[in-house]
Amino acid sequence: MAWRSSGASNVDLVNNLRRHGVFSSERVKEAMVTVRRAPSSEILCKHQTLSYSRSCLQLTQINLQVDRAHYCPSFPYDDSPKPIGHGATISAPHMHASACESLLPYLNPGAKVLDIGSGSGYLTHVLAELVKPGGKVVGIEHIQELVDLAEKNMAKSKEGKEFLESGTVLFVKGDGRKGYPSEAPYDAIHVGAAAAEHHKALTDQLKAPGR
Ligand code: SAH
Repeated sequence: MAWRSSGASNVDLVNNLRRHGVFSSERVKEAMVTVRRAPSSEILCKHQTLSYSRSCLQLTQINLQVDRAHYCPSFPYDDSPKPIGHGATISAPHMHASACESLLPYLNPGAKVLDIGSGSGYLTHVLAELVKPGGKVVGIEHIQELVDLAEKNMAKSKEGKEFLESGTVLFVKGDGRKGYPSEAPYDAIHVGAAAAEHHKALTDQLKAPGR
């Protein structure tokens, strides 16, 4: 069912994921719908692909309804993973939704979260929405270009920019298998990169209770 959840807009996509039972929480829905990444028309003009023949104003109007578009370079409302370069993908929306719902009991205002394999930065942003105010999310990624990309993606919106400037979100380059001890302990650790084995460093950096 997850693969039938694609929509014509971000709201559509999130509603379809919920309707198909991928997640049920209102909080997850709000976070996925309200992560605002719409740029100003000026920024949009700079970044729009020239193949678009629409005016900046029209593009801005379209983008105001967009969530994933600034993190996902193609078909952002499809419920499927998409390449983001460097051999990595932004995960499918149903993966993001179910990860959030599974961690939800630990994603309260003020909570600290580690997002391992932060890639595009999309999930890091949704997690930051879920732990505000007062929370912090560290996105750790082992490819520097993707650390830079996540920061660039997040800075496209006013809210994302504030998260970065206030230190609510921190993107760092590192090996996620070791966690990120300097910000530990975490209420929740999301592992978005495949792990062949259990890495004790991660459970050591998790609060009890934590997930
Ligand atoms: N959650 C992200 C990306 C998921 S793809 C998104 O949806 O956009 C998995 C990511 O994990 C890739 O960006 C990859 O570069 C990263 N990764 C793989 N092994 C890693 C490791 N040991 N430490 C940190 N990041 C790693």
